[in-house]
Amino acid sequence: MRQTIVAGNWKMNASKETVNTLVMGILEGLPDVKSKVIVCTPYPYFSQVEALATHSQLNLGAQNININASGAFTGEVSADMIKDFGAEYVIVGHSERRSLYGETDEIVAEKVQVALDNKLTPLFCIGELLEERESGNTEAVVTRQINAVIEKVGIEAFKNIIIAYEPVWAIGTGVTATPQQAQDTHAFIRSLLAENDADIAQSTPILYGGSMNPANAEELIACADIDGGLIGGASLKSEDFLSICKAG
Ligand code: PEP
Repeated sequence: MRQTIVAGNWKMNASKETVNTLVMGILEGLPDVKSKVIVCTPYPYFSQVEALATHSQLNLGAQNININASGAFTGEVSADMIKDFGAEYVIVGHSERRSLYGETDEIVAEKVQVALDNKLTPLFCIGELLEERESGNTEAVVTRQINAVIEKVGIEAFKNIIIAYEPVWAIGTGVTATPQQAQDTHAFIRSLLAENDADIAQSTPILYGGSMNPANAEELIACADIDGGLIGGASLKSEDFLSICKAG
């Protein structure tokens, strides 16, 4: 039985004041939540979130990682720095990193490897563009994205990886994949893993991301192969985020 996981991706949205309100609001509702809950915050707020969330069930994650351990990499953040604040998770391969910062499948695979080597759990994002879905290439795209990581880290490593299937056309657009569309792709992703190892395919969490909100979360998370959500916009309001957390 896979535990439901709900992760918030705040992206580049925060201030000291909003972080306080948001985290305090989440903490208030958390005792009623059975899902594992993660917030992936901008780095400058790590210390604040760490302090607010001490001794709570709220887990901290990063939104990106550099592959190097330390040194002359201006503007970058290493695994050790992330872990210094008690964070245990890191988003890798988000479509915004792929499209805006040129992260290829190979770079993403390397980041997954570095996260695992440092005992951070990668929230490994995959998903197709609208034109790729419309041309019938969704399965080919997610196969390519997953195989790049399997080739790099091996299937056994998926014991410590969370996959997030995020159709790019659904991210931040208000257009959500239908439960059937999402379930079909999740089942396909699980079958891809099963070609390598049937047990790992069954145990790997596969989250859905793309305009998930309080109104659609329950129906999506109820699908057999959807194990929770990676939430952007709706993770910025504690009531909305908690309502999604409770849908699992
Ligand atoms: C995301 O950025 O990972 C995401 C799913 O965003 P949104 O929920 O806003 O579509």
